[in-house]
Amino acid sequence: MQCPKCNSSMEKVKTPAGDVDRCVSCKGLWLDVLVHEDIKKIAADVDTGDVETGAKLNTTDQINCPACPSSKMIRMVDPIQPHIWFESCPTCYGRFFDAGELTDLSERTLGDFIKSFSVKERN
Ligand SMILES: [Zn+2]
Ligand SMILES: [Zn+2]
Repeated sequence: MQCPKCNSSMEKVKTPAGDVDRCVSCKGLWLDVLVHEDIKKIAADVDTGDVETGAKLNTTDQINCPACPSSKMIRMVDPIQPHIWFESCPTCYGRFFDAGELTDLSERTLGDFIKSFSVKERN
């Protein structure tokens, strides 16, 4: 499988909730059948990428599904955290998360708080 954002190869990462694919370059994550609760459990283990790289690639939203390349992925917004956008395939229901997004999604408002704090510190 190739990363739909940067065209690098994806590696399989084993988790207690099942295998996920992670890009060797941008560390974007491809999840197929995982449910929301599973995502929270595995986020800390698999979401190892650089948040700034993920944020840059998040602006790339015209991508094809890496599992069924004739399908265009559609941008979804998390209903609880509308600042998180991810891409979902309308055919296989796979989802692509940029680096940092899975952790963000799993941490809810606490993550939002920490992020705004660290951004302020950096400036
Ligand atoms: Zn990539
Ligand atoms: Zn697909």
